[in-house]
Amino acid sequence: MSLAKEISEIVKGRIKFNEPLSEHTSLRIGGPADYWVEPKDLEDLRAVLQFASTKRLPWKVLGEGTNILARDRGFPGLIISLRGDSFQKLEFNEDTSYECCKRRVVAGAAVLLSKLMSEAAERGLGGLEFAVGIPGTVGGALVMNAGAQSASVGDVTHSVKVLNTSNGVSLLKKDALRFGYRRSNLGKEEVVLEVEMKLKKKDKNEIDNLIKDYLSKRREAQPLDQPSAGCIFKNPSDVSAGELIDKANLKGRRIGDAQISTKHANFIINRGEAKAEEVISLVETVREEVLRKMGIRLEPEIEIIGE
Ligand SMILES: Cc1cc2nc3c(=O)[nH]c(=O)nc-3n(C[C@H](O)[C@H](O)[C@H](O)COP(=O)(O)OP(=O)(O)OC[C@H]3O[C@@H](n4cnc5c(N)ncnc54)[C@H](O)[C@@H]3O)c2cc1C
Repeated sequence: MSLAKEISEIVKGRIKFNEPLSEHTSLRIGGPADYWVEPKDLEDLRAVLQFASTKRLPWKVLGEGTNILARDRGFPGLIISLRGDSFQKLEFNEDTSYECCKRRVVAGAAVLLSKLMSEAAERGLGGLEFAVGIPGTVGGALVMNAGAQSASVGDVTHSVKVLNTSNGVSLLKKDALRFGYRRSNLGKEEVVLEVEMKLKKKDKNEIDNLIKDYLSKRREAQPLDQPSAGCIFKNPSDVSAGELIDKANLKGRRIGDAQISTKHANFIINRGEAKAEEVISLVETVREEVLRKMGIRLEPEIEIIGE
């Protein structure tokens, strides 16, 4: 029996074959994934991982693909998307006797970070205002420890439920979680299922004003009307990567349809038909020139997947 037929018999959720990753990444770049799977529920997800392990197929969970550069020849294995209803839980605990001034929120991995932030804001719960304008899912945000304005998702995270490699569900409490600058100890081998956060009661006007302020700064500084994956490089410890790229006179530099944004030097935009190889060449050019001119080695923030 072909692998395609076998997987179709095992998985209850949606399966697509040769699914173009350009349709699932914010850069709009990427060749086909052999298998695109949307498990229906936890049991289905277990079956998918078991299948991948038995057949020795590489697999990768994709959130909204907003921090991903998918290579042109695609992904030779299974891309797992948790967009099914089972991973969309969003529960606010209104219990006022909970830890002083704090409220518990539980969010599934596929919930959009922006939705979690705005629903929290509506309830007068602060702590996630920094997340306004960060695209992607809660799962992706936890793995990347997404952040802005000197705050990040890890700051408000209390525990994370994961499906581990032996297909068991574990609850990782705060002391088992490691969050650093755009990194965490999550997602390497396990699938993030849901998070429990603690948010603080706060004046709603104060929350709304912060959100407005952060959003307008973002709109002013970032090329939000063009496909990108956000910042390409991590900021070195005492200077912003954008500043270095700008000083190296690289704003506007173009290889094919991949271009360093003229608005924000740490963004690479896809002007239409950019290939992953062009983005990678541009990334290498920036690294070489910044190292040569400033003596600083830039580290990518985006993740490259595929062949
Ligand atoms: C316009 C723009 C602005 C941005 N601004 C910011 C910003 O201010 N700050 C910031 O930190 N980032 C920013 N980003 C980058 C990106 O939005 C974040 O990193 C985001 O958190 C990624 O979420 P995602 O769902 O798209 O994850 P993806 O890009 O799909 O995946 C990211 C990683 O998480 C893993 N992953 C996703 N879900 C799961 C899961 N359930 N279980 C296991 N692993 C999982 C993936 O395998 C991958 O390794 C920006 C991007 C864009 C396009």
